[in-house]
Amino acid sequence: MATMSSLESQAVISPTTTGPIVWLNGTIKPLAEATTPAADHAHLYGDGLFEGIRFYDRRIFKLDEHLSRLYDGVNMLDIRGMMPVEELREIILNVCPQADLTDGYVRLNVSRGTGLGLDPWKINQTPNVMVMVNFLRLYNEQQYQEGLKVITCSTRVFPAQCLDPQIKTIGRYVANIQAKLEANRQGAGEGLMLNTEGHVAEATGDNIFVIHGNKVSTPTTACGILNGITRRVVMDIAANLGHDVVEERTTMFDVVSADEVFLTGTAAEIIGMISLDSRPIGGGVPGPITRKIMAEYHNLTHTTGTPF
Ligand code: PMP
Repeated sequence: MATMSSLESQAVISPTTTGPIVWLNGTIKPLAEATTPAADHAHLYGDGLFEGIRFYDRRIFKLDEHLSRLYDGVNMLDIRGMMPVEELREIILNVCPQADLTDGYVRLNVSRGTGLGLDPWKINQTPNVMVMVNFLRLYNEQQYQEGLKVITCSTRVFPAQCLDPQIKTIGRYVANIQAKLEANRQGAGEGLMLNTEGHVAEATGDNIFVIHGNKVSTPTTACGILNGITRRVVMDIAANLGHDVVEERTTMFDVVSADEVFLTGTAAEIIGMISLDSRPIGGGVPGPITRKIMAEYHNLTHTTGTPF
């Protein structure tokens, strides 16, 4: 069992150390000194799960939603010996203040355990659990103002028959990284991934929203996407603003012919998408509905959340 003694869960780093820190299996170290076991099953095979969570003004945004998704994945992958969710929640709330960051990013990792060979029954099935408190900025202010040029990637999302997109596994992300490299090579801000049927799925680390008139639509989860937590928040914001919010199968035509398109994710937050494969979208700048939703999201992230 990976349960920690209460002493371990309250491990305190040297009070003089500030900045990015890592809690790993009960010990806190500065980021540069933290190491995982060489035979960690996520390190060897990608056999683990992760979450990325933001905090603003020392309040963690949607903490319980992220924990719930993580534990659904733990259950689905049959990762044994994980501490109860309440305990991990308490650890996070105890570790965050020690990084001395007002705004930042919590990276949670859960690996199945430690041992060589892929058979889980033949390794030490004590999960390696990590809480990294760091900061992360994907885009600069100008990119948020002007929006991103996006390309269509040749790398497709895994079909759900192969790997359910709701399981946020570490191993899955090699495809997203390949897609991100495609975007980088073309000088694009992001890459749009299609599913194996050719329908729009998501960007490499973000969901996509497409606006036509009053309709704000996003691909359904059946399209092979992660049901992003930001996605769900944005659907609520858009509905509250009086838009018709729809989850539907989305084509590249829908994207290119849209009035506005934007991307959503915990790390990226909300950012306009102004072209696809050099075809301008809408006016070629983030539109008024996108801007309004960005403002509402900023307001929510800075007024709600679990304090630490
Ligand atoms: N899709 C993928 C593939 C992602 O990695 C992420 C980021 N976790 C998202 C969408 C957005 O999800 P969320 O809003 O929960 O961060």
